[in-house]
Amino acid sequence: TGAVGQGEQGWKMSGSKRVAVIPGDGIGPEVVRSALEVLDAAGADFERIFLDIGCGRWQRTGQAMSDEDLAAVKECDCILFGAISTPPDPNYRSVLLRLRKGLDLYANIRPFRGSGLDFIIVRENTEGLYSGLEEVGVEESRTLRVVTRRGSERIAEKACDLATGRRRLTIVHKSNVLRSDRLFLEVCRSVAARRALDCEDMLVDAAAYNLVVNPDRFDVLVTTNLFGDILSDEAAGVIGSLGLCASANVGPAKALFEPIHGSAPDIAGKGIANPVGAIRSGAMMMQWLGEPQMAERIEKAVEAALAGGARTPDLGGQCRTEDITQAVLREMGGQN
Ligand code: ATP
Repeated sequence: TGAVGQGEQGWKMSGSKRVAVIPGDGIGPEVVRSALEVLDAAGADFERIFLDIGCGRWQRTGQAMSDEDLAAVKECDCILFGAISTPPDPNYRSVLLRLRKGLDLYANIRPFRGSGLDFIIVRENTEGLYSGLEEVGVEESRTLRVVTRRGSERIAEKACDLATGRRRLTIVHKSNVLRSDRLFLEVCRSVAARRALDCEDMLVDAAAYNLVVNPDRFDVLVTTNLFGDILSDEAAGVIGSLGLCASANVGPAKALFEPIHGSAPDIAGKGIANPVGAIRSGAMMMQWLGEPQMAERIEKAVEAALAGGARTPDLGGQCRTEDITQAVLREMGGQN
């Protein structure tokens, strides 16, 4: 969890911190409940503002998130987020994209720990092919891929912060085909050089291959929006399950913490979702809120619970969500 860094204000946690809790749809509420139980046991002290946002809300009201919800979120220090299903509405605007853009959450930080591996994917979160600049036609559609110097610089700086004290930074791109990636590569290289970091670059197709055949060569990867999205699901598969992985979406003032999986409608309501990604997201949140020891304690308890055989069906086990929560709570108790 050292991955996420600390709130840029470097604040110390106090009871006055406000966290917007958005459980969302599908398994979102199941795994967020688990994360909150673990945070309670760890002694996390913050005010919770529960917000009903997502597909369920859309089905009842025709709106997944209102402007008032967004304003309420902006009043909070950060967000703990479960997962949201996409409503079957052609005019639907993704809640996550609205939050990422509305709060300028430019850095998506995804640590992958498991199967003897430990690496971080740092994904630019606001531009690239997710620019939202699209022309949709019957015979032809276009999406504009946007790479800016400022956007590249700030994600490179964040990746370099995370790579400091670690082994190496790998810049992942496709600059042999996409001219927009030449700017990304040039900017990332120069930031890494200024920070005197060991740095290499790799084409995204080679990175996809190496993640499977040689994953322990990676340490910190930095890449653009779509490549980061795809590589991180691949990375989750490499370490064992989507259900294990957490993420932080960090901006200059705010941050949103969420497991990287979606709402998993196929297993929702069955009580078998793996809560580890959500629990680890809670730990990343505490790190950002200025409680690194609490974050470390949670992460150690998760690792011990997994090592002790606590496994949901996605990992080949037979545990239920609640069993994993209890195993993590027991490990935390044992640390005292
Ligand atoms: P969405 O549209 O919300 O992204 P999805 O089903 O397309 O939903 P995911 O929710 O990420 O995408 O699920 C992909 C697969 O991984 C599903 O089979 C799901 O059951 C499984 N999965 C995802 N998260 C978990 C979890 N926490 N525990 C167990 N299995 C999971």
